[in-house]
Amino acid sequence: MTRILESYALDRWTAPDGALVDIPSAIDGRVVARASSAGLDFGAMVRYARAIGGPALRALTFHQRAGLLKALAVRLGEQKDALYGLAADTGATRGDNLIDVDGGIGTLFAYASRGHRDLPDQHFVVEGGVEPLSRNGSFVGVHVLTPRPGVAVHINAFNFPCWGLLEKLAPAILAGVPVITKPATPTAYVAEALVRLIIETGVLPAGALQLICGSAGDLLDHLSGQDTVSFTGSADTSDRLRNHPAIGRNAVRFIAERDSLNAAVLGPDAEPGTPEFDLFVKEVAREMTVKAGQKCTAIRRVIVPRPHAQAIAEAIKARLAGVVIGDPRRDDVRMGPLASTSQRAAVRAAVAELRQEAEIVVGDPDRVEPLGGDADTGAFMAPILLSCANPLAATRVHTVEPFGPVATLMPYDTPDEAVALVARGEGSLVASVFTHDGEVADQLVFGLAPWNGRILVIDRDCAKESTGHGSPLPALVHGGPGRAGGGEEMGGLRGVFGYLQRTALQGSPSRLAALTRRWIKGAPAPCATVHPFRRDFDTIRIGDTVETASRKVTLDDIEHFARFTGDAFYAHMDEEAAKANPFFGGRVAHGYLVLAFAAGLFVDPAPGPLLANYGLDNLRFLKPVAPGDDIHVRLTVMEKRPGRKADYGEVRWDVEVFSGDATVARYELLTLSARAA
Ligand code: NAP
Repeated sequence: MTRILESYALDRWTAPDGALVDIPSAIDGRVVARASSAGLDFGAMVRYARAIGGPALRALTFHQRAGLLKALAVRLGEQKDALYGLAADTGATRGDNLIDVDGGIGTLFAYASRGHRDLPDQHFVVEGGVEPLSRNGSFVGVHVLTPRPGVAVHINAFNFPCWGLLEKLAPAILAGVPVITKPATPTAYVAEALVRLIIETGVLPAGALQLICGSAGDLLDHLSGQDTVSFTGSADTSDRLRNHPAIGRNAVRFIAERDSLNAAVLGPDAEPGTPEFDLFVKEVAREMTVKAGQKCTAIRRVIVPRPHAQAIAEAIKARLAGVVIGDPRRDDVRMGPLASTSQRAAVRAAVAELRQEAEIVVGDPDRVEPLGGDADTGAFMAPILLSCANPLAATRVHTVEPFGPVATLMPYDTPDEAVALVARGEGSLVASVFTHDGEVADQLVFGLAPWNGRILVIDRDCAKESTGHGSPLPALVHGGPGRAGGGEEMGGLRGVFGYLQRTALQGSPSRLAALTRRWIKGAPAPCATVHPFRRDFDTIRIGDTVETASRKVTLDDIEHFARFTGDAFYAHMDEEAAKANPFFGGRVAHGYLVLAFAAGLFVDPAPGPLLANYGLDNLRFLKPVAPGDDIHVRLTVMEKRPGRKADYGEVRWDVEVFSGDATVARYELLTLSARAA
């Protein structure tokens, strides 16, 4: 029986109440599901997210929300075979599913671990350092980021029903913002199954995730200034949504990831026979056929030095000849059908348009013999490579996006011309450069960078481990300027920060220290009655300070340190040479000696709750220490955060080393302290 897709609204599965749209299988055209959002109250969904989901998520800390993502990732990983089974009807091969299903789950894991590692176990983030705003230090500024009390509306394209949903969900949930997700209708049955799995885990709090199967109705009318829309899809739809009155009037954050004519550029040095030439051919063919070319990041423009154009065309042709097209459920099939026959019709129309400026060198858009599939009822299509002899004079090859297994070869004469050709795409998600020549890399990368959100430089040294042209990664920015939508997603914490409000806070150091739970210079720093190294993590108090005794640094100390460590740099060992140095005016102590003496002054040596020193941040040597100087240290507990394991916590200390009244060194010391038993 054909499935009728349900939406998940107000924490209930809701069947459509109106005319249904048929969703055909990509393999043979049979109707696999029907969908409609008729009957949904979109305003009520938005209000529910704001009233129920938002508060529940914001009651949790970043670490707790990271825990939700991890739990979700583990549970989805156990059930992913169900999604694989469904995705075949979208045309996805097993390899395609690795990107969509496993890639999506991997993104949840990545955000879970980043949330634990790089965000505080709190409800807000302090971004950057303290800005001094007054002469005497009684008025300072910091920036804080807090979750916006709105809803994140995620509108996705059809090509990655799982990854697209999860790569948007992870940063929003980590930020503490509830999500209403709207998958593209042609593959909504996979997204619906994914949301069912998510809801069944019971991991997310009520109201944190709602799903619309079918059209978005009047959803956008209900959005206001604390809400975010993150859209992935075509430039036309994006334009329409961006210009929706509620989006402009209420300054709703609008992130767009849309079509782009990504380029791969072969460097002039990468002649036939070089590893880079072969890598280029392999990558272009791969990008044309993975997901049947229905990837926003796929290579559409193949930009090569004119003398090598013929050789490249032949090599790509030979490579494509080995690609088995057919039923994606078969293990021997490398490329499945497009998502639907209407999608294939759109790609054929795009190819027809491109043929006004380019000629086909490989493939026939109207003929293919799929293995185990029906060429008429299924949406199969052969990979098509076109060639445009004069791409600088052409327009369509830079503007028409054939969202399928299609790419156009374009010759160039100089690297500047290659850059100009890429720029004709008016902004892309990604470009790749294949070269082993430093100058070529320099010229191409910095020429291309303003036009692309990501640039991959491939050569023989990184190819084996490269993640490839077409793979957006959770740690790196996904998005691009201009035609690509001007948006940014993922990019590590950047993607999370997009859902947070950045606010500048101004006030006294003690007020801001209390608000941010982080000691700030100028805030009270009471002398610790018990050395903080003797306190366990739970009883260490932020602001507690140790003022040490002083110690004289002698020439003997410096020479001993030089002999002991082997660091006999002239500034420490050669009076004449040190005098000639513009900073020292004579021999000075090693910075590392000053650090070592500082530790000797502030540590409390006996075994206790302090377990380990694991690093220093923001170390600066501010003034040289000369032989005969007396140094002393002020050590202040700056910040505490739970550790990765339950039995210890991480403590950040402000360390200031003085000679007399002058600060000679300042840094943040990072230690691990045991929790209370
Ligand atoms: P699309 O037709 O623009 O649809 C994208 C999404 O917008 C779908 O969920 C669609 O829903 C929805 N939508 C359409 N009209 C809407 C409206 N008035 N209000 C709210 N939502 C609306 O794109 P597509 O055909 O699914 O995807 C292919 C395109 O997406 C290609 O151009 C490709 O380059 C681009 N893409 C870009 C990225 C990227 O990251 N930059 C990734 C993947 C794909 P319905 O399906 O229900 O109409």
